Amino acid sequence: MTKIGFIGLGIMGKPMSKNLIKAGYQLIVSDFNKNAVSELQQLGAEVAETPKDIAEKSDIVITMLPNSPNVKQVALGENGLIEGAHEGLVYIDMSSIAPAASQEVYKVLIEKGVDMLDAPVSGGEPKAIDGTISVMVGGKKEVFDRVKPVLEAMAGSVVLVGEIGAGNVTKLANQVIVALNIAAVSEAFVLSQKAGVNPEAVFEAIRGGLAGSTVLEAKAPMMLDRNFNPGFRINLHIKDLTNAMEAGHEVGAPLPLTAAVLEMMYGLKVDGHEFDDHSSLLKYYEKLANTEVSRKYFE
Ligand code: NAD
Repeated sequence: MTKIGFIGLGIMGKPMSKNLIKAGYQLIVSDFNKNAVSELQQLGAEVAETPKDIAEKSDIVITMLPNSPNVKQVALGENGLIEGAHEGLVYIDMSSIAPAASQEVYKVLIEKGVDMLDAPVSGGEPKAIDGTISVMVGGKKEVFDRVKPVLEAMAGSVVLVGEIGAGNVTKLANQVIVALNIAAVSEAFVLSQKAGVNPEAVFEAIRGGLAGSTVLEAKAPMMLDRNFNPGFRINLHIKDLTNAMEAGHEVGAPLPLTAAVLEMMYGLKVDGHEFDDHSSLLKYYEKLANTEVSRKYFE
């Protein structure tokens, strides 16, 4: 029976690991957050102290951690996965990190006989709970084919997009499109508000046309309700856009709009909104125009 190690039981990792248990996999878990660990333990997961222990006892290890330094630490640091490496072990990092960091970790692990996929996800907590996240995978096709059923136990879609690092390049492309789209919606709603046209009416009128998008459908109602509870936090989006800028500079792809929206998000962080949903980009535009977008002014 396939034994899976799972490290990082946060907003995303906890429901994803629960879906693996539901699918019948044997799990061995760890996280600094002891409440999350004991929740998984009550569902039948074994608990380990270090990534090294997890690697020794697992056929596949999955991580769902915040950013590149956390992944490097867990994979290559003291008591890291590398110290428990054994032939045939597959490491799947599902965190959203810098593509160069995925490639760096891969190069070290492959020398120890450990193959690796980078497999970041999109969809957020509700889809992690439903088991319908989208997974974008980088790595070798034969490794992908071997572990695909494991990924499918957590996901609605699983797509191999290229070699190691390609999963995170795809995720960065996703995050650029989402951030710029939210900024565009914010800019347009502030224009409507200041011009005296109800933004809710604008939303209804344009959602079926070319300006319609999944982002518009998800974020316009939040903006109109002035509900900025995350969702996806500003600080995580700052992390992703910073990784996008770094990756863009490495390959010679200037990202002028991403740079602008990154600075808007940074301004929001300084202004105390780093834990708000990324739809709070609206507040940046409201401050510039000295207005508040709300349907209440049109009732
Ligand atoms: P989170 O902060 O809720 O969870 C991260 C978990 O990792 C925490 O429980 C933390 O204690 C644990 N952790 C950190 N270092 C560790 C270590 N060395 N050993 C063991 N545990 C450790 O983050 P999240 O929202 O679950 O996001 C995880 C990743 O998924 C991020 O890269 C994020 O960008 C990405 N992501 C998040 C969402 C979302 O909507 N939250 C959606 C898609 C992708």
